Amino acid sequence: MQFRLVGLSGIGRVFIFRQFYKGPKEKGGVFMSVYNKPLPAQVKGTVTKEYWEALKEGKFKFQKCDNCNTSIFYPRVVCPSCMSEKLSWKEASGKGEIYSYTVVYKAINPAFKEDLPYTVGLIDLAEGIRVMGNIIGTDDPESLKVGQAVKIEFSKVTDDFTFPVFRVVEEANQS
Ligand SMILES: [Zn+2]
Repeated sequence: MQFRLVGLSGIGRVFIFRQFYKGPKEKGGVFMSVYNKPLPAQVKGTVTKEYWEALKEGKFKFQKCDNCNTSIFYPRVVCPSCMSEKLSWKEASGKGEIYSYTVVYKAINPAFKEDLPYTVGLIDLAEGIRVMGNIIGTDDPESLKVGQAVKIEFSKVTDDFTFPVFRVVEEANQS
């Protein structure tokens, strides 16, 4: 799925795109206007719809079981702990820490080549859920540490999809 930014209507889009899409996507001053990476399958009408719609508004939402209070991610129809169908959506604070990560140096899909090297992490959010996503905000990914603090940011890649990414929190007392 691709879209091109053309004509006057494109200018506004480029602006919005730039707001969310800083960094390695702009190589050598050439703005990459086409998002040509794989995207999730259509989500309309499924249990994940609330999650994706919230991301577009800059919110990270997860489910909580009304019966046993378990925090749930990814979105599901029933609680994996007690099988209750009484689940409520909550908004995460955005605070988390690195559970694990890997630095990717070889693009399995050529569309990711421009991003190399990039970092994919498993992030434990303060609310007790574990989420996978890109870790950003460091020039030296090898220096990342398990337990290091990160915060959620939102990367709009198309009109339909905004992804959560995790920015390293610069703390003076990370010794
Ligand atoms: Zn439950």
